Amino acid sequence: MSTQTAAGAEKTVPFEEAMSRYEPVIGLEVHVELGTRTKMFCGCATGFGADPNTQTCPVCLGLPGALPVVNATAVESAIRIGLALNCEIADWCRFARKNYFYPDMPKNFQTSQYDEPIAFEGYLDVEVPPREGLDEEPFVFRVEIERAHMEEDTGKSTHVGGATGRIHGASHSLVDYNRAGIPLIEIVTKPLTGAGERAPEVAKAYVGALRDLLRALDVSDVKMEQGSLRCDANVSLMPTGSERFGTRTETKNVNSLRSVERAVRYEMTRHAAVLDAGATILQETRHWHEDTGITTSGRPKSDADDYRYFPEPDLVPVAPSREDVERLRATLPENPAQRRRRLQEEWGYTDLEMRDVVNAGAAEVIEETVAAGASAAAARKWWMGELARRAKTAGEGGASVELLDLGVSPAHVAELDGLVTSGRLNDSMARQTLEGVLAGEGTPTEVADARGLELVQDDGALQAAVDEVIAANPDVVEKIRGGKVQAVGALIGQVMKTMRGQADAGKARQLILDTLGVEG
Ligand code: ADP
Ligand code: MG
Ligand code: ZN
Repeated sequence: MSTQTAAGAEKTVPFEEAMSRYEPVIGLEVHVELGTRTKMFCGCATGFGADPNTQTCPVCLGLPGALPVVNATAVESAIRIGLALNCEIADWCRFARKNYFYPDMPKNFQTSQYDEPIAFEGYLDVEVPPREGLDEEPFVFRVEIERAHMEEDTGKSTHVGGATGRIHGASHSLVDYNRAGIPLIEIVTKPLTGAGERAPEVAKAYVGALRDLLRALDVSDVKMEQGSLRCDANVSLMPTGSERFGTRTETKNVNSLRSVERAVRYEMTRHAAVLDAGATILQETRHWHEDTGITTSGRPKSDADDYRYFPEPDLVPVAPSREDVERLRATLPENPAQRRRRLQEEWGYTDLEMRDVVNAGAAEVIEETVAAGASAAAARKWWMGELARRAKTAGEGGASVELLDLGVSPAHVAELDGLVTSGRLNDSMARQTLEGVLAGEGTPTEVADARGLELVQDDGALQAAVDEVIAANPDVVEKIRGGKVQAVGALIGQVMKTMRGQADAGKARQLILDTLGVEG
């Protein structure tokens, strides 16, 4: 039973079938680039996108005699991450040299942590959403954290002259050391069992929850597509009922949440086919191919790979006092999942509405809009409707932009909502006003003033229009009087037209019914 899809694809077993014979074990390694202003061991800048090798110095280039100094902010971020992951924080730990020879690390070693991580033995409770089309409750999976340790990023190599961009077939390679030495935290889970067929979703939900947590901690910009959050996914299978872990593969640098799920799922179906055939899984790294949805073989990687780790002699140990740790604990933000539940309750959104809001990244703007005085319903209506629609195409060349980059602030939206609830604007006027705000014409009040947008508050004028429309439509009036109250819509339309749109439709409806002596 195999499905051959893409070039280089190996045999796979349909997912459900694989799950009838095997249990998955997964392990996730997440690297997060900290958003510190300077690098881990030197004062070089860390900004993304600078010209190659312009953000380097003797320390991060590994020149002889250069001495590293640890970045205190990075250590604090590491401790805060550890605490947010319910870890223990070491009271004394060291850096270690991970020795290997490869030009992306000019020192010929990476300064990392080995058997003395800054944080260890934690967990993150992850909410796994219901599967699409299934009427089921979300469930919580506890992801046990093995360790979170500090290290430095490597440089970036570019292989030129070949067809694939890989080193094979390239004529030469370029290396940019701007990234070398940027602080990284590596967060490693324990082997996770018990997720069964939901393992791919658990993997995705975990990385998503971790990203939300890191964002709430404000320690990183957590952009998977720019590589500031990177995930390696380890997968193995064991026969159902067995407790002995199978051999794992490690799929590298899966760079979106969706890919995490797909890559884990794919590896599960591939492992099943290998094991079904009586063959053994090679312990190796795999490359994930976003376009074809498959992994291909990388390099063999045994647990015994010898990096000749030894304690870094040029750096003093990190020994945070318990007072420092408690001071940092006090800076932790509300847990994002708890916060989401609290906001949903406050706002009265349904599960589906809340999920849409979160997926659209709109929870923060809605929170600010509500804080600025709008109702939760109105805030959702504007940000998830009109504004979300515009954000999809407002960027250069029709690209999408973030809601907050549209040029409308939460305060603007709250002000607009105020103009509607106070009865100054109706819905279509509010839309026109928003148009003006987006065009940079000023605040909602300024735009409404400048464009002369205001509902006619003069009830006499409205009554005159209602009388006129009633007189001109005896047939409709008869229908309404005969019990077909919804026919009133036609009359409201005409009243609005007579008033050139400057009437409150709700008020017009009431006035028509009152005039006809009909109960609405
Ligand atoms: P490496 O040096 O290979 O990166 P790490 O310890 O950093 O090793 O990470 C290995 C990851 O793989 C951890 O998340 C660990 O829990 C997970 N893991 C270990 N054994 C297995 C297994 N048999 N199946 C799936 N995952 C595993
Ligand atoms: Mg690792
Ligand atoms: Zn430097």
